Amino acid sequence: MTSHRPTAVVTGASAGIGEATARRLAAEGFHVVLGARRLERLGTIAEEIDGTALPLDVTDAASVAEFAARVENARVLVNNAGGARGLAPVAAADEDHWRWMWETNVLGTLRVTKALLPALIASGDGHVVTVTSIAAQEVYDNGAGYTSAKHAQSALHRTLRGELLGQPVRFTEVLPGMVETEFSLVRFDGDAERARGVYAGLEPLTSDDVADVISFAVTRPSHVNLDQIVLKPRAQASATRAHRES
Ligand code: NAP
Repeated sequence: MTSHRPTAVVTGASAGIGEATARRLAAEGFHVVLGARRLERLGTIAEEIDGTALPLDVTDAASVAEFAARVENARVLVNNAGGARGLAPVAAADEDHWRWMWETNVLGTLRVTKALLPALIASGDGHVVTVTSIAAQEVYDNGAGYTSAKHAQSALHRTLRGELLGQPVRFTEVLPGMVETEFSLVRFDGDAERARGVYAGLEPLTSDDVADVISFAVTRPSHVNLDQIVLKPRAQASATRAHRES
């Protein structure tokens, strides 16, 4: 895996924002290590961008350890793997959905970051980008499983900013609003019609829009730390308020 290019690791790079970010960082000159569970998709993308595809399940400590052991000289880590399952009031919460969301978004970010931090620091110019969500700042009815996980993921990320102060590593939190990806398909268990409804009547962000912002943060000079970047479609004012054309 030796390469003269600096290495950027992107988790959840088999689809959506992670895939777009991997492609964009490769175009910026990075050797990208792509991690996710769907290896076939990952391999195809890696081949197209001259990157490296490695199996990764962020909910599995052994998988994370194996993944991290195979990554050489990481300089950038994009904690992107994550998502939502279900949309239910707290009174009817599905504990399996909650467990999935906390394991993937929160503990997944913790495991991968812990495993790669020594290499990021040793690079002399490390950077951790964590993709949380506007759900890390807001709560909404029926969304507590996801909003609580994203709040926790954000707290973990922002804590690192303080704990690593003085070390050569930057921390950027990216908080997108609505982005049209497989996110809603996963949330609604493959119900494509319901997933489409989320984006009906407005122009959502694309994965490329988010990748653009991540790439901007990563390519600033080393002394510039973009702490938090919130981006939303023009038609979306908050997690609960959007303008839709009928
Ligand atoms: P997506 O299209 O569903 O992609 C999710 C990615 O995460 C996939 O590559 C998936 O790969 C990976 N992933 C899921 N579980 C994983 C696991 N256990 N181990 C490793 N990888 C895993 O959704 P997306 O919209 O691009 O989501 C990316 C991030 O953006 C998430 O953290 C999400 O919460 C956040 N976000 C999304 C939106 C939105 O509106 N779409 C808004 C704000 C924030 P495999 O299934 O192949 O493992």
